[in-house]
Amino acid sequence: MVTFQQIQELVNFRSEDLPVVSAYLNTDLRRVNKDQIRITLKDMIKAREEELRAQDLTHQQQASLKEDFKKLENFVTTELFPEENRGYVIFSCSGKDFWQVYPLPQRVKNALIVDPDIYVRPLLAILNQFHRFAFVIVDQRRAQLFEMYMGKIEDYSHLISPDVPGKVRYAGWYGLEEKRVHRHIEQHVHEHYKRVSNFLFQLMNRHKWDYFILGGKFHELPRFEKHLHRYILDRIIERVDVEPFSWDINRVKASALEIETRFMRERLEKMIDLLITDAKKDHKAALGLESVLQAANMGNIRLLMIEEDRVLPGYECFGCGFLAIRNTICPICGETMQQMDDLFDEIIENTVNFNGDYYQVPRGTLLGEFGGIGAFLRFEVPEEA
Ligand SMILES: [Zn+2]
Repeated sequence: MVTFQQIQELVNFRSEDLPVVSAYLNTDLRRVNKDQIRITLKDMIKAREEELRAQDLTHQQQASLKEDFKKLENFVTTELFPEENRGYVIFSCSGKDFWQVYPLPQRVKNALIVDPDIYVRPLLAILNQFHRFAFVIVDQRRAQLFEMYMGKIEDYSHLISPDVPGKVRYAGWYGLEEKRVHRHIEQHVHEHYKRVSNFLFQLMNRHKWDYFILGGKFHELPRFEKHLHRYILDRIIERVDVEPFSWDINRVKASALEIETRFMRERLEKMIDLLITDAKKDHKAALGLESVLQAANMGNIRLLMIEEDRVLPGYECFGCGFLAIRNTICPICGETMQQMDDLFDEIIENTVNFNGDYYQVPRGTLLGEFGGIGAFLRFEVPEEA
């Protein structure tokens, strides 16, 4: 599970004068097999080593790099789980004892970058698409807490519920004793809910949850919610009728995933509706490959949306970065254009390089009717551009 702290650490990392290796690996088994993943990495390392030989690296820099490459190859051979993760991003700076691995539910474009800085932008663009969800399950005595992020679940239920007397078994004469016991229980329940709410609020600052799912008996949940902080209340996306500890972690995960998928899909569908309206109304939105390509070539994409698993070969000019569906000579700088496996990957890269955002869209939305690609633009494109 990628933690918020891990990302903070990443953004704050300084290698000083040592090189940092950033490796992006496509491990989508629907497109590559395990041997190909290993060979791709080996080839990329070889290419970088040749380039680096021409540079004046200090002994310390060389030693750090050598160790980075060794660790990477070792990782790909022994620790890779492409069955579960379609992409991996790994950062290494051995001289600084820095090593971070990000397994991703999305494929990434293969790349191996050696630079004084971490090549973090494509990773941040991917992480940007995912939200952290907290799943809280409560009753009058107990509470469970899970975190969902990028399809993975973490159990944070190490919360000790205060002792609450069990069910009232004996009623005293005329119900007097019953009333007293009942009041006593009410007090405990109130304190328990208050405690769980405070706990959630404190943890929230550290975990940066974006949304909440509440589990509990439906008739009981409103009492708990009375104690919740406004911020949390506003971010509850669904309530589930379930008692604490009645589901195992896989059931919790399946339920959370289903809710999350539905919620995210609805959000994306709203964005696509807006995209279509905007594209009709003015020129600050592009729909379909041709208009998105044009926007990409102008560095004009603010937010790119692409249907998952779309692939289309295309051309890129290595001189100026111009992208095209079928040009052989670059119309901008006149260089011969190179054939690329996937134009969609290149458009994503272009968007990210120009600091734009990117969302992967599931199949079956209206975007499919526009070739599976659309973008919100930064500035209007004149009609005759
Ligand atoms: Zn060019």
